[in-house]
Amino acid sequence: MDKLAIENFQEYLKIPTAHPDINYEPCVTFFKKQAEILNLPCLVHYCKPNNPAIIISWVGNEPTLPSILLNSHMDVVPVFEDKWTYKPFDARIDDKGNIYARGAQDMKCVGIQYLEAVRRLKNQGVTLKRTIHISFVPDEEVGGILGMKEFVKTDIFKNLNVGFGLDEGITSSDDIFRVFYGERTIWHFKIHCPGQTGHGSLLLDNTAGEKIRYLMDKFSDFRAQERKKLDENSKLTIGDVTTVNVTTLTGGV
Ligand code: ZN
Repeated sequence: MDKLAIENFQEYLKIPTAHPDINYEPCVTFFKKQAEILNLPCLVHYCKPNNPAIIISWVGNEPTLPSILLNSHMDVVPVFEDKWTYKPFDARIDDKGNIYARGAQDMKCVGIQYLEAVRRLKNQGVTLKRTIHISFVPDEEVGGILGMKEFVKTDIFKNLNVGFGLDEGITSSDDIFRVFYGERTIWHFKIHCPGQTGHGSLLLDNTAGEKIRYLMDKFSDFRAQERKKLDENSKLTIGDVTTVNVTTLTGGV
């Protein structure tokens, strides 16, 4: 049983679903095959072209009751291969049993765990009152604009009749999984600082660099203040403070 779970996990990890321009078709093939093995119906809905949401359903004894949705995303963040000990899509397993691959934690492990849990329950002859839908969605790492955002508007989603859902959380190195019922919201923003250009030998007014410095100071002060809150109170976790990060800076000629 464990062997099968690990093999499935490795096969999933070997699909290179890193942004940008992801080809999800190997995922569709993979999950259709998994559904077939589990003898469960599988539905594929294209939220946007090339962006499929895949739903595997285990119908309960009382299918009119609100269902339970177990969601995970298929996409992973980009990789810089030269920084990796093992190739990011080889899913190498070392002699300690550690598996190395992009998306192993975030969050292909969870998707496979859901499938595996259903497989084991089914094999034990368990039947459930409520229907379980296991969904695999695209585009989450860049905001879900081409994925969940579109999917939730469809009748297909409404007809899933979801009453309760589990989504991404944090990974665990033991058998204890924490369930959260709240999440901070995200706010991505882009600031454009135009300014006076000119020869580098001058001290021109109103330069972009000066504006960026002003903003960086503001961000850094706020960041330091939140960090201080966290450091000074051992009862607080990262979820109790506001995080801010400058992720990309571009500009100049
Ligand atoms: Zn994630």
